Amino acid sequence: MKFNTKTIHGKQHPDFAYGAVMPPIYQTSTYAQTTPGGHKGFEYSRTHNPTRQALENAFASIENGEFGLAFGSGLAAIDAVMKLLKPGDEVISTNDLYGGTYRLFTSIFEGFGIKFHFVGMNNAANIENFVNDNTKLIWVETPTNPMLNIIDIKATATIAKKHNILLAVDNTFATPYLQQPLDLGADIVMHSATKYIGGHSDLVMGALIVSDKDLANRLYFIQNASGAICGPQDAFLALRGIKTLHVRMQRHCENGKAVANYLASHPKVEKVYWPGFENHPNHSIAKSQMNDFGGMMSFNTKGNNYEDAIKVVENLKIFTLAESLGGVESLAGHPASMTHASIPREERIKTGVVDSLIRLSVGIEDEEDLINDLKQALG
Ligand SMILES: *Cc1c(COP(=O)(O)O)cnc(C)c1O
Repeated sequence: MKFNTKTIHGKQHPDFAYGAVMPPIYQTSTYAQTTPGGHKGFEYSRTHNPTRQALENAFASIENGEFGLAFGSGLAAIDAVMKLLKPGDEVISTNDLYGGTYRLFTSIFEGFGIKFHFVGMNNAANIENFVNDNTKLIWVETPTNPMLNIIDIKATATIAKKHNILLAVDNTFATPYLQQPLDLGADIVMHSATKYIGGHSDLVMGALIVSDKDLANRLYFIQNASGAICGPQDAFLALRGIKTLHVRMQRHCENGKAVANYLASHPKVEKVYWPGFENHPNHSIAKSQMNDFGGMMSFNTKGNNYEDAIKVVENLKIFTLAESLGGVESLAGHPASMTHASIPREERIKTGVVDSLIRLSVGIEDEEDLINDLKQALG
């Protein structure tokens, strides 16, 4: 089965009860047993729920994995991965990282005795400088948020395998439409399904996808033992979102390209960060590991002035000023004061998240309307 077909049919079947084509929302906490232990595979909805299971199967299918796990948020999914570790273990992480992931790592898991190295990974070979006997996990986000750096997943997987370290890839920005990290050698794929997977800005959810059975069992144990699952209503919505992922992504990519080119030609724009540009430092890696370049980009205004950036985002009319990304509607954000406010200013500026940086999630509206909106806001 190819990707577009998988989004609709992958690991799915009509409901066993009445043949419903969409899995019903099994809004139940528990399941009747005929005799103690005599059940149809479902005992309690923290452990299993048929709607969630249909979604977890879809997650696995679209990422070319064997096992999918759904969580109550992207951060809950990351939290579950971190619970594979023990005090004294070390993690090598991308330094340009979703702010909430950085906060989870530093404010919670550092306190549990896990050591993090935040490392520039534009050259994957740099990762090896931080490997030691305690290194248990490499955490990669690519494209990175919000600088749209590209990390070579295959090269990173080679280093991880050589030292017997798990490699996890946050695939939220790319989605499996653009890149499939398990095929490139990663052990764990993570999603904030809140974003492109859900696609309609109407739910908060996380996903993990793996192919190794032992690893899957350890993660299912953590999912059930810690309990950060999603409810059946959200599982239904995410499953519906997946069925149009490929058509939405195609338009996100087309509009993204048009908007990136427009911004790059604008006299008031200093720089546009988008992996589709030939002068992007890792454009060739993006081209080899991604099918297209997506609708996420960042840019800063000439003069690098905080107030200018605020004025631009306030003046936008079709782009909504909001956190988050990946929905059908276009969003603009100011990372320094919004998504990345939890990262100390010096750390933030070191990675390029300057005061004037604006991040765009280009939606699937008409390209002309989006460009005209940017034109009037920059004007
Ligand atoms: C939003 C996001 C997360 C966190 O996901 P939530 O669903 O908000 O918990 C993690 N990584 C990336 C890249 C994100 O954009």
